[in-house]
Amino acid sequence: MTQPIVQLAIHETFQQTIQGEGHWAGTPVDFIRLAGCPVGCPWCDTGYAEGGGKGLPREWRSLPHLLAELKTPRVVISGGEPFLQPELVTLVTALLNDDRTVSIETSGAIWREIDDRAWVTLSPKQHVSPRYPVQPEFWSRANEVKLVIAQAEDLMFYNQALEKVDAPIFLQAEWDTPASLQVVLDLLKRYPQYRLSTQLHKYLGVQ
Ligand code: SF4
Repeated sequence: MTQPIVQLAIHETFQQTIQGEGHWAGTPVDFIRLAGCPVGCPWCDTGYAEGGGKGLPREWRSLPHLLAELKTPRVVISGGEPFLQPELVTLVTALLNDDRTVSIETSGAIWREIDDRAWVTLSPKQHVSPRYPVQPEFWSRANEVKLVIAQAEDLMFYNQALEKVDAPIFLQAEWDTPASLQVVLDLLKRYPQYRLSTQLHKYLGVQ
């Protein structure tokens, strides 16, 4: 029997860039950005601040098409919100079967079981978009937690949840809030068990 063709709504892909954030910062990677995100963070830097990004680029692409354009052993799947599309599960498996290592960046708003070998970066946005709380499974599934900080209260919001996290926790200054870097540096003095995440790609001026 012929298998149905799996297609994903893609915002964009780009190859041979550098992971700028979190544990894998500095690692050469390819990016697959899935289309769509309902979370609506006001400072979203990928265009999904309002209305789920209506009008943003969106193109249906098949798995073979996505695999054929890869150039780097490590692939980052981001969005939008990658867990929005059920086909994410199949995409992750296909990448792993193609001998790629896989990282997924998520707000944690939608839970799906994915292969254990995939690295999950949980970047919760519940503090700015309470209608989309982190699904509880993510706090233990995450391989790292990356908190985008505009003000100190953003960290306090997650204090209770973070107590249960057994993974590195990164604080990253919200890029468009000029005072946020100092806020993060001050927080790291109080919480030396956490780590700084910069957006290296923005400092370097690469995509
Ligand atoms: S969860 Fe991410 S993609 Fe969605 S609106 Fe917030 S920052 Fe943008």
